[in-house]
Amino acid sequence: MALLGAIEAGGTKFVCGVGTEDGTVVERVSFPTTTPEETMALVFEFFASKELTAIGVGSFGPIDPVKGSPTYGCITTTPKPHWSNYNIVKALEERFGVPVGFDTDVNGAALGEYTWGAAQGLDSCLYITIGTGVGAGAVVSGQLIHGLSHPEMGHIIVRRHPDDSYEGTCPYHGDCLEGLAAGPSLSKRWGVPGIELTPDHPAWEMEAYYLAQALMNYVLVLSPQRIVMGGGVMKQQHLFGLIQQKLQELLAGYVPHASLNEEIGQYIVPPGLGDNAGICGALALAKLALDETDTVLA
Ligand code: ZN
Repeated sequence: MALLGAIEAGGTKFVCGVGTEDGTVVERVSFPTTTPEETMALVFEFFASKELTAIGVGSFGPIDPVKGSPTYGCITTTPKPHWSNYNIVKALEERFGVPVGFDTDVNGAALGEYTWGAAQGLDSCLYITIGTGVGAGAVVSGQLIHGLSHPEMGHIIVRRHPDDSYEGTCPYHGDCLEGLAAGPSLSKRWGVPGIELTPDHPAWEMEAYYLAQALMNYVLVLSPQRIVMGGGVMKQQHLFGLIQQKLQELLAGYVPHASLNEEIGQYIVPPGLGDNAGICGALALAKLALDETDTVLA
């Protein structure tokens, strides 16, 4: 049976899977990310016995997702040893001779949620992950957003919480959104991992304070029809209510839409694809690459 291949390329681990065009993952493996040579040898081995029609890669970044650019297909300036300027698209195309879709892991996840998950049937959505880092991707008018490169919505500037003196973890900006709100910032600020903080701990009010500001900015700039929040930190279910409430306070009724008012509980939601959001995102990128190739040939 012809299948789509999916690669969730993370800085810590690679998840490879195969699935069908309806978003069902039928088999998957995962292994640690080491050097490109070692890691890609395992990727090639996993897909070698499969009959693939296309492969999708949702990658850690920064990457170059702009077709026609000389470095299209590369992971670009990553601090991850050996991966800088590695062209994963070229490697896969040469090996398997099928269309390869390539985007950021979060753009992939946004496309997956739009195609099969919590944003199915809408024209736009935003997916944000809060974990080791903070990143977001978006589908607007049915298209993933690209421009000079890809959006880096995790590194926006937010107003500091009056009780927060923590300097922030971002190696580039210190106290950008990622620097203040990613998982490692929680652990460093409070001295214990987020998972050990009880729901009534002040850490969560502060976390929601930062995340609600970010969502306000995304709502005002992109006007997404739904916001999907994933990643390890968002496993704290109580954060959803806090973020929804703070977003409403910040917007102060300025955007008159039911989704931001009485229906906010259905507007800011966990991934419809659950823990499969990443791998299904890569599957959606494969499907997109296949559909685009069919369009060109038609
Ligand atoms: Zn930053």
